[in-house]
Amino acid sequence: MAYRATFRCFQGCDGSWPVTQPIYTCPTCGGLLEVVHDLAALAERTGPQWTKLFDERYKLNKWPYGSGVWGKREWVMPEIPDDDIVSMYEGSTNLFWAERYGQELGLSDLWVKLCGNSHSGSFKDLGMTVLVSVVRSAVRRGLQVKAVACASTGDTSAALAAYGAAAGLPIVVLLPRGKISTAQLVQPLAHGALVLGLDTDFDGCMAIVKRLAQENIVYLANSMNPLRIEGQKTVGIEVVQQFEWEVPDWIILPSGNLGNASALYAGFKMMRELGVISRFPRLVVAQAENANPLYRAWQAGKREVEPIVAKQTQATAIQIGNPVSAPRAVRALEAMNGLVEQASEQELADAAARADRTGMYTCPHTAVGLAVLEKLVSNGTIGSRDRTVCISTANGLKFTEFKVAYHESAIAGVTSNLKNPPVLLPPDFGQVVDAIGKRFD
Ligand SMILES: *Cc1c(COP(=O)(O)O)cnc(C)c1O
Ligand SMILES: [Zn+2]
Repeated sequence: MAYRATFRCFQGCDGSWPVTQPIYTCPTCGGLLEVVHDLAALAERTGPQWTKLFDERYKLNKWPYGSGVWGKREWVMPEIPDDDIVSMYEGSTNLFWAERYGQELGLSDLWVKLCGNSHSGSFKDLGMTVLVSVVRSAVRRGLQVKAVACASTGDTSAALAAYGAAAGLPIVVLLPRGKISTAQLVQPLAHGALVLGLDTDFDGCMAIVKRLAQENIVYLANSMNPLRIEGQKTVGIEVVQQFEWEVPDWIILPSGNLGNASALYAGFKMMRELGVISRFPRLVVAQAENANPLYRAWQAGKREVEPIVAKQTQATAIQIGNPVSAPRAVRALEAMNGLVEQASEQELADAAARADRTGMYTCPHTAVGLAVLEKLVSNGTIGSRDRTVCISTANGLKFTEFKVAYHESAIAGVTSNLKNPPVLLPPDFGQVVDAIGKRFD
């Protein structure tokens, strides 16, 4: 294969580095890196030729093409040999028409992309398959790595631990103690990772893992490492593919560290540059009001995001005050005529319950996206016939505590307007009949 990808400075400084090199910042300016593809080589195929190839591979059993990520390998990480790929057939997740929930909001063309229906239960699998594959490839060619490590709000660590275990690599995860769900904590434990619970928040864990990487003690698996972005960018490509290569009007994305927002843009940019699409959807970055540094900057008309101390939110995976990929996300918002909106704890809790009542099973982050959608519909920004996609970032089953607390009216500061607690009865036929009659008369 003649296709190539290398690391470059995101701000445009000189220099390029192989993707197998453990380098996370530009040596000149200290800023973020990005993966740059040889677009001239890729452009030798036309847009329709690419989409035909991607369609032929979609959900195929032939290794590694059944993966939604590796089915687009030339655009993602072209030089990794088949044998080095660590994949658990991530991606190719369902995009479903949210008919009843949409009707409640007055929308006829609302879709939810269920990225949480994946190996470790979140979209983080999309990026992790790429990062772990590159590391395995580099290690097999002599790179010395004591351990691969990440700071996490729960889903990155679950994905890294799973893919690392599949590859046989040593994994270290740094977690903010008491700030992730039980399911998220158990995942890396089950996969044999070294789990370090630190008495701090995500930003505190991130500062330590960055230093571990700088001092070459670990290989860094956070999305500061642009390898993750390359895998995650397939989500936008996949959405367009699932609409038979038509571009929706809006994409709403719950965001914290802002890597995924920039990944979404990277996918759309590549599709446009390679003749697959001719316009972008509008991007909506959805933040929890308690962890909203990008929202604050955007409201103030600023393009520099000032770090804040994030307050507690039910949407624990996006409880981040100092987003590493802020400059990348700002570029994405500018290019995609985007906007930033926020949701309060009350709004996200009710949005989750409302959506669940139409058959979804919504994690609190997806609920931030849905709450923001509800706002943008009611203020007329999103029109009733606009084709709108809300990205569901994780599986609701990882967040049982959130749902139990809601239905038990036990979330501090939140009124459980749509709670549905169980009716507890003795084993008495008459009382069962009464209970049914009372609910459905
Ligand atoms: C990681 C994560 C996010 C946020 O993604 P960023 O790239 O950090 O913005 C949102 N939802 C869930 C469930 C996540 O795990
Ligand atoms: Zn630079």
